[in-house]
Amino acid sequence: MLKLSTLQGRDKIRSSLAGAMAGGRIPHALLIVGPNGTGKTTLAKAIANGAMCMSPVNGDPCGQCMACKLIAGGMTPELTYIEPDEKGLIPVSAVRQAIDNMYIKPAYASHRVCVIDDCDAMNAQAQNALLKTLEEPPATGMLILTTSHPDLLLPTVISRISRFDIDRADEEETVEYISANYPSSYNRAHFIHMYTGGARGQIDQICTDPEFMELREQTMAHFTAMTSDALDAAYGFATWFEKESDNEEHILKMLMTLYSDMLMLSTGLVSRIINRDYQAKLTTLMEFLTPDLCMKATNAISEYRRRRKSAVNHKMCCEALGLDLTISKSK
Ligand SMILES: [Zn+2]
Repeated sequence: MLKLSTLQGRDKIRSSLAGAMAGGRIPHALLIVGPNGTGKTTLAKAIANGAMCMSPVNGDPCGQCMACKLIAGGMTPELTYIEPDEKGLIPVSAVRQAIDNMYIKPAYASHRVCVIDDCDAMNAQAQNALLKTLEEPPATGMLILTTSHPDLLLPTVISRISRFDIDRADEEETVEYISANYPSSYNRAHFIHMYTGGARGQIDQICTDPEFMELREQTMAHFTAMTSDALDAAYGFATWFEKESDNEEHILKMLMTLYSDMLMLSTGLVSRIINRDYQAKLTTLMEFLTPDLCMKATNAISEYRRRRKSAVNHKMCCEALGLDLTISKSK
């Protein structure tokens, strides 16, 4: 049975959770944050198993009680699992239903658990539906949320929930792994480590995809062009970005790393730059891209994600993003 103590490489989060869950003090709401491919769902399910068990040991299920026997048999009547639908959304109705369930006293376990995976797929209305439960949690209910994009959650939700960040693998390990398996990517190992948070699955994907680095160069070229007073750059980006819709998530993430690097440069935190190989180029852009404009750009990217989820016309979303990211004298 999936349990906290047998998960690999999650020592820090495991010991703090085991501490929190020892003696039956089950936290009522948890947020697990980490990049894709770092095992957030597995961790959430392991925690859920410990919470449903009638006599857990340091957060682990005992394996003997009725709840554990049901879980071992693949039956989890006290667990509600929600994930984004085929449109990438978690509708408010699913959230309301899950919350109502949490208030029903469990019959086969010590807690009723609701796991909401990739919870950033909830719109503001769905997130708001959680607030009452976060304020007055049912005694025998537990809510576990996971996300790769905590920036898309409402501050009112984040502030009412215990947050656990999945540890990043260390850079030394990633560099060793890349030099052993993908020597041709060795000189970009720092970027790859920062971009993937050390998640092996993502590292494998990036290092075996020749188009990835090309996409990164194109993103950098558009980023540079938009740091100018040219309206052409905005539409150039929009057209390209719309065409590259399969790579949308990568492009947005790469842009975020570039704006974040500009902020780091402006505050002198040079060691935290992700795109180290672009440092010289980025330095020349500092006179145009002020920290204030970088903040506006990151907001524009979040806004783009929200618009896309609400099914606004794709082309219009791309154009709005291009215009928002292009520096013009009128701003
Ligand atoms: Zn048990």
